[in-house]
Amino acid sequence: AVYLDNHSTTKPDPRVVAAMMPYFTEIYGNAASVSHRFGWDAAEAVDHARGRVAEAIGADPKEIVFTAGATEANNLAIKGALPLLKRRGDHVVTTAVEHKSVLDVVERLGREGGWNVSIVTCDENGLVEADAVREAIRPETVLVSVMTANNEVGTINPIREIGALCHERGVVFHTDATQAVGKLDLDVQADHIDLLSLSGHKIYGPKGIGALYVRRRDPQVRLKPLFDGGGHERGLRSGTPAVPLIVGLGEAAALAIAERAVDLPRIRTLRDRLEAGIRERTSDVRLNGHPTARLDGNLNLSFAYVDGEALMMAMRDVAVSSGAACTSAEPEPSHVLRAMGRDEDSARASLRFGVGRFNSAADVEYAIEVVAKAVSTLRVHSAAWSA
Ligand code: PLP
Repeated sequence: AVYLDNHSTTKPDPRVVAAMMPYFTEIYGNAASVSHRFGWDAAEAVDHARGRVAEAIGADPKEIVFTAGATEANNLAIKGALPLLKRRGDHVVTTAVEHKSVLDVVERLGREGGWNVSIVTCDENGLVEADAVREAIRPETVLVSVMTANNEVGTINPIREIGALCHERGVVFHTDATQAVGKLDLDVQADHIDLLSLSGHKIYGPKGIGALYVRRRDPQVRLKPLFDGGGHERGLRSGTPAVPLIVGLGEAAALAIAERAVDLPRIRTLRDRLEAGIRERTSDVRLNGHPTARLDGNLNLSFAYVDGEALMMAMRDVAVSSGAACTSAEPEPSHVLRAMGRDEDSARASLRFGVGRFNSAADVEYAIEVVAKAVSTLRVHSAAWSA
């Protein structure tokens, strides 16, 4: 089987695994233990990793809070910041294309938390325009959350522009950069970012670890922790630091930056070949996502005249994602594709390919073959196709 689902998660880089191993076997101290070597060694490793993560986004190491992943980072950013902003206003802006760990948080605060919420929509390419955000901001807006790059269609948002307009208006700006770290040139200063979420397992690091960047020395950017406890991570995230995972995240972030110049053009070439190969063999294919402002590894296609579920079944040998969340009995068409204006059938009959660091040209040729065969077989049985 071929793995082309790198937006979902990535294979841990063997160098990341090697970097983590000693922290399982030898250096197992509690990084919060200040009275002995075991603790000091662990603390030193955590500090080193903190510096590497900070460097990847142009932050200061003191601005990095380790969390259990981007879901927690998003929750901490929004649920942590809002209570302390409430005296200034009661309005939050986010977008229709966010990951559920942002969208559901904001929607719940709108339903249950006494917040007024504006959900900005995207254009037909999944792009959130800065003007749309500008129009949504009101005098009582205190927080804007717009993702850097979308996890389904790969569209890259103009976050520098959005960050700048937030700061002109004194609004705190959060971005979920889970899919963008290591893939785009991110700089929290130049991009006017106050809070940024990232995750280890999207960058060839371990699962269950992520971080939230929290801007320092800005009285507006203060957080209330999600849980009480030992006061780790400057009081923002209690819980014994997951030293091996933190080391893995640090290694993954450093590798992503060091190898970006080689990795990304290679990934883009493979992605472009995948699209060209599929189009050579298959008609009535539509790209979902921005034609140019898109992550290098992303390819999201809708196939007309095929049933989405049947298409997924036929794709078993090639790991991809579909435009329907298969977590429930009744697959829901993707909220991102729906926001882009795709109808339900087209959203369902879509495949998301994510090309990554460990993919080869042979993987891509194989996937082209499987897709072409699957689609043509399904269309033979499709009444709409033959009509
Ligand atoms: N945000 C985006 C854009 C994602 O793609 C993901 C991954 O599923 C998440 C957040 C959640 O990340 P994690 O799995 O680290 O909680």
